Amino acid sequence: MRNGTNILAVFGSTGSIGCNTLEVVRRHPEHFRVRYLTGNSNADLLIAQVREFRPAAVAVTDPAAESAVRDAVGDQTEILSGTDALTQLAGRDDYDTMVSSLVGFAGLLPTVTAIRAGKNIALANKETLVVAGEIITGLLKERDVHLLPIDSEHSAILQCIVGEPGHSVARIVLTASGGPFRGRTAGEIADVTPAAALQHPNWSMGSKITIDSATLMNKGLEVIEAHWLFGVDASAIDVVVHPQSIIHSMVEFSDGSVKAQLGVPDMKIPIHYALTWPDRIAADYERLNLADVGTLTFEQPDLETFSCLRLAYQALEEGGTAPACLNAANEVAVAAFLRGDLSFPGIAQLIDDSLQHVPTLPAEEIDSVVDIDRQAREHAAASLTRLKTLT
Ligand code: NDP
Ligand code: MG
Repeated sequence: MRNGTNILAVFGSTGSIGCNTLEVVRRHPEHFRVRYLTGNSNADLLIAQVREFRPAAVAVTDPAAESAVRDAVGDQTEILSGTDALTQLAGRDDYDTMVSSLVGFAGLLPTVTAIRAGKNIALANKETLVVAGEIITGLLKERDVHLLPIDSEHSAILQCIVGEPGHSVARIVLTASGGPFRGRTAGEIADVTPAAALQHPNWSMGSKITIDSATLMNKGLEVIEAHWLFGVDASAIDVVVHPQSIIHSMVEFSDGSVKAQLGVPDMKIPIHYALTWPDRIAADYERLNLADVGTLTFEQPDLETFSCLRLAYQALEEGGTAPACLNAANEVAVAAFLRGDLSFPGIAQLIDDSLQHVPTLPAEEIDSVVDIDRQAREHAAASLTRLKTLT
């Protein structure tokens, strides 16, 4: 934000990041205004958000939710529905910044549409950069728009490199909490339940990213995200497990100096930064008290037990559509695990199998990415059916 009010389109306003974004808006009405909101299945929450924030229009993708929203607030706001509702809203010209906080591949096309329309993006939906990093970075340059990360690690890295010459960045160190199963052996995670995997030690988030945090795939997706955001090779992106989630990430410079960004684990802080960059606007979020925290610890990630992180590095090295395949297979696998149709170690197995069997193509066109996403989902779903028949 440079001057005045930042007019927002919050995509995925009924999710965890969406709600945190609206809390940032609620606390700073002089700086932010909401023009558009979108939800999928949570009609009650979307209705409450419409009543409070009075958006000009909302998009609702789930048909049952759409009719509930229309009945309740159809006379107060325009309601868009159907398959292209999100891209229709994203392409409108009367907002400044899209908060891209849909979960998964569903975020890609609306985000691309917003960039093409010249909007700045506050990006939580890391899957967009994972599957189409090359396309997105090209479009950002072409349209001369900014994409600011909401992910706490990438917000930390951005804050570390502000004011530094680009050539001086030697290494990025992403911190990871390690999730609920940190320190366990392969045998000890073989039978873990969805309920246990949904208990994240430090952050309260949507179910998909919470499972990704338990498998360490979230960190793998973040390695790919960091590669595209900061132009750093996979070999210069490290992951260190830091269970307290106080240091949000670090940058090592060419002279050996290391900068870190710290704060309490509260997503409102990186959301606020993404929406006010390049300025800093005073806010009263919870302050960090290091004496209360006491000890900060660090350990190596266990890539054998948590092989999703290793698979993400492998997909990034392979390039092209391999990260799109990794992402699609992960989405299928996580949904199957949450339904009780796949074991926890089965998530990595399904992704590994998809990476081996789905072809890797150049990822220079959206259509190729969409096509590989579909192929990888079909392959993973077929493997899942085979696995279920065997058990
Ligand atoms: P949630 O599951 O809490 O929210 C997802 C949002 O997307 C909801 O508004 C949901 O609608 C909507 N949605 C879900 N599926 C679809 C679909 N197929 N089409 C349209 N809308 C859909 O996710 P989070 O907020 O946790 O995460 C959002 C993104 O932010 C993810 O990419 C995640 O990796 C990233 N992120 C999240 C963090 C966090 O703290 N939560 C931290 C860093 C990154 P509804 O609920 O109405 O069904
Ligand atoms: Mg993160």
